[in-house]
Amino acid sequence: MREERIIRGVVASVGTAIGKAVRTFDPLFVSFNFKLRQDQVRKEIDRFRSSVEKSREQLKRMQSELKRKSGPESSFLIDAHLLVLQDRLFVDRIIEKIETDWINSEWAIQQVSDDLFQAYDRLNDDYLRERRGDLDDIVRRLLHNLQSKPLPSFKKLPYDAILVGKLVPPSTLFELRSQRIVGLATETGSPLSHTAIMARSLEIPAIVGAPELAEVASGDLLIVDGDRGVVIWSPSDETVATYKNRDRDGKKLKKKPGVSMSAPSVTEDSVQISLGANINFSEEVRSASAHGCEFIGLYRTEFDFFREGKQSDEESLVADYSVVLKTAKGAPVTFRTIDVGIDQKSWDGVNMNLGVRGLRFCLENTDIFKKQLRSLYRASVHGPTRILLPFVSSVDDLDAAHLVIDEVRHELRARRQRYDPHVPIGVMIETPAAAQTCDLMASRVDFFCLGTNDLIQYYLVVDRSDQSVVHLYNPFHPAILRCLQQVYTLLRPTGKPVTVCGEMAADPPSAAVLLGLGFTSLSVSLAAYSRIQRMIRSVSVSQLKALVDEILKMQKPKEVEEKVRATVYRT
Ligand code: PEP
Ligand code: MG
Repeated sequence: MREERIIRGVVASVGTAIGKAVRTFDPLFVSFNFKLRQDQVRKEIDRFRSSVEKSREQLKRMQSELKRKSGPESSFLIDAHLLVLQDRLFVDRIIEKIETDWINSEWAIQQVSDDLFQAYDRLNDDYLRERRGDLDDIVRRLLHNLQSKPLPSFKKLPYDAILVGKLVPPSTLFELRSQRIVGLATETGSPLSHTAIMARSLEIPAIVGAPELAEVASGDLLIVDGDRGVVIWSPSDETVATYKNRDRDGKKLKKKPGVSMSAPSVTEDSVQISLGANINFSEEVRSASAHGCEFIGLYRTEFDFFREGKQSDEESLVADYSVVLKTAKGAPVTFRTIDVGIDQKSWDGVNMNLGVRGLRFCLENTDIFKKQLRSLYRASVHGPTRILLPFVSSVDDLDAAHLVIDEVRHELRARRQRYDPHVPIGVMIETPAAAQTCDLMASRVDFFCLGTNDLIQYYLVVDRSDQSVVHLYNPFHPAILRCLQQVYTLLRPTGKPVTVCGEMAADPPSAAVLLGLGFTSLSVSLAAYSRIQRMIRSVSVSQLKALVDEILKMQKPKEVEEKVRATVYRT
């Protein structure tokens, strides 16, 4: 038996979970490491062999195409890959692992390739070390081909699975939401990543940025303690019992009725603040509506759009969006068009946050963009719909988006399909360029949403999903305060409504700063809704305005934060 060990990380979502680790192999392929039953071993070997065969066929095809196009010289590159597939040290060892350890192909590939990668890294010869790339390529191809013969996947997870990986993409967590996942623990990542936001909205306890998790294997017993920021690896029976008791007490507390969310959120000096809900998947609208939330200020539609790694078709999108609008019972729903690219790094490590993300992706893939817009317009007859465009950095972006929107409306009219012609179009202010030029955008849009999550990362040049710089990500930085003050000043004369929907609105001290700056509409996750409502009811805007005057003169984020905390919590 292994000794109990504490692994420290960063809290991404509170609560505790006890369960068995299930390692994800790789963030882009998202396959899991499983122990098999003895009677499943033969089938698994066949599965691996057919992936090898498929890879070989693909490579041969590629080779003959290369030969045709550019002669035999370049096709030898493919030989190197084909050789790996014939290498006994590689293929046979993987089969042997599956056979003797009763593990799935992905896990066996991982073990064998890790050993080989280490051997390559130790080589002194630069040329041979470069061959590591060939192996890397082949591993990816094999994994990909294993995936296209899908695993009986999620159904194989134990009922108390704790997902462990280097990085677990938000879409995986989302796909697994109704499955058996009780906790999440990742080696990298930060509490500001979409994965963390998703874990909070699913109420899955999560720890991120814990590199020591690399040693944890599938099947190990873990406790994720999202209150202390630790993962307990191989906990003793005594520790498990303590956590089980605590969990029972927690559940009793949760049942107590809370303060009504539907009552208006008014400050001590009678300023009415609009408070909306952020949702990440369509089912959440039911709880938002049951809690009496005033409006849905942000529906991040990308997770529903790419369910189970596949794009939804138009008819099912129309059906889903219509259900959302009907369930919202007249409360306006802000559908943000798909913001792909965030929290993704390409294989060569390029940070997509600065690449083809959000609206840029939609403008390069107008067929996808138009499909979503058509679906939104068609659903709009079922309730007040607002369309929000993410990751915009210029008036040109907006003009290009409007052209597509106009085309879609024209098509719908030609098809005699019903839609609401007055759907308001809004823009996220989440890039420094948008913050500087939001007044120039005003004539082209009906409303604004201030996305502080991205605005802070781009303003302070701090990658929001990188735990190594997370301490530099600070909403109280004077640059952020000045930026927000500027946005408020630029937008006020336009008379266009502005809602702040980043996490800054979800933490009482930073949300109080927003009120002091003059913002009167916030949208936060359901988990944060009641604490922000309590904060609003306990402060006075005139006092917060005086506080903002004071903190705008300060030089250091820490000083600002201390002053704000002391005012909000009256310490
Ligand atoms: C934001 O950037 O503040 C925001 C609300 O959007 P997301 O977190 O989805 O990037
Ligand atoms: Mg954003």
